[in-house]
Amino acid sequence: MDTVLLLTPTEQDGTLPRAAREAFSAAGAAGGPVAVGLFGASTGPATGQLAGAGVTRILCAEDEALAEPRYGTDAAAATALCRASGATVIVAPALSRVARIAAGVAHRLGGRIDTHVTQLASDGGLAVSRWYYRQRIEARLTRTQRPWVLLVDPGAFPAASFGSGAAPGVERVPIDLGPELKRSRVLGQRAPTSGEQTIRPDAKLLFVAGAGWTKKQADGQPHAERASELILGFLRASGASLGTSKSLTDQAGEGQKVLEFMTHLNQVGQTGSTPRHPRGLSTCCHGEEPHVVGWRFIRERRAVNLDPACGWARGKADVLYVADAFAVMEKVNALLAAAKPGG
Ligand SMILES: Cc1cc2nc3c(=O)[nH]c(=O)nc-3n(C[C@H](O)[C@H](O)[C@H](O)COP(=O)(O)OP(=O)(O)OC[C@H]3O[C@@H](n4cnc5c(N)ncnc54)[C@H](O)[C@@H]3O)c2cc1C
Repeated sequence: MDTVLLLTPTEQDGTLPRAAREAFSAAGAAGGPVAVGLFGASTGPATGQLAGAGVTRILCAEDEALAEPRYGTDAAAATALCRASGATVIVAPALSRVARIAAGVAHRLGGRIDTHVTQLASDGGLAVSRWYYRQRIEARLTRTQRPWVLLVDPGAFPAASFGSGAAPGVERVPIDLGPELKRSRVLGQRAPTSGEQTIRPDAKLLFVAGAGWTKKQADGQPHAERASELILGFLRASGASLGTSKSLTDQAGEGQKVLEFMTHLNQVGQTGSTPRHPRGLSTCCHGEEPHVVGWRFIRERRAVNLDPACGWARGKADVLYVADAFAVMEKVNALLAAAKPGG
């Protein structure tokens, strides 16, 4: 039987990242006893969270140098934790901090790595699933080599919640973080989006705005300013995350009137992202296959389109409202404002 290590950095405040609690659920499906390896400047709050988790061991690599994400120090700490645990399967959340070091750690351990894991099954030996070719083909993989490092995609598993209970004693793993590992320093952060942050991976709803928002409407005129007000008003009131279609993203490059808060990072689809919100609402978007392929993991789908024969009508949405999205969102925003405490 495999022995399993959940490997994760801690947040700045020392707690477990949400993606790590999801990866913990994944680790539980691997079939073996689960130990946890934590690294960061502070790990105490995370060990407290794990008290009722029923883990076999808690190993910590704690050092001030691990406050900043950096390949040299993170990889050294992660490798030390994996070695100390003796685990044959290492499950880790695909946070950018972990994704950067995971292949190097697997190499140092003489193991193998698979990324974008969305399922684990332990019946008849460990097998993992991941998607290929922009989420069109699902493959089930097994490996004989150990240790096997598995990076779990955020949003693929429910986040584990831990009750109270007795935790095993914390094992401090000594790490040697010499100056040669600390040459890179984080000087600051620059966000790629202009203005308002519209991408919210933890939101319950994905709101997609398609190119129709900038097209000529019934009066023969485009109404991009009104479209911006309605979309931003809805995002602020609902906390939804904003997605878009390639057509709308591309318009900026073609000098057309666009919604200024849209960037290519919002694009969903074959050449965009594949977000994992539980629900999606598409507006003014035709629902063509290269776009809808990015909705693979959106479980409940609704769309608003003037065209009853749009792509969403062909089995791609659970509900299609054949309506003017300007009118619909105006009404929705008014209802949200009225429902707000004090509204
Ligand atoms: C190789 C390749 C890769 C691609 N990758 C992607 C990708 O990653 N993501 C992606 O999105 N696309 C991608 N595409 C493009 C894709 O095929 C479509 O062209 C694109 O998704 C269309 O965007 P749209 O639906 O927003 O715009 P349109 O096709 O212009 O549709 C606009 C829609 O708005 C509706 N509308 C207009 N006004 C209103 C109103 N007032 N109320 C309600 N509805 C209204 C119209 O009825 C229409 O259906 C790719 C294409 C190729 C060839």
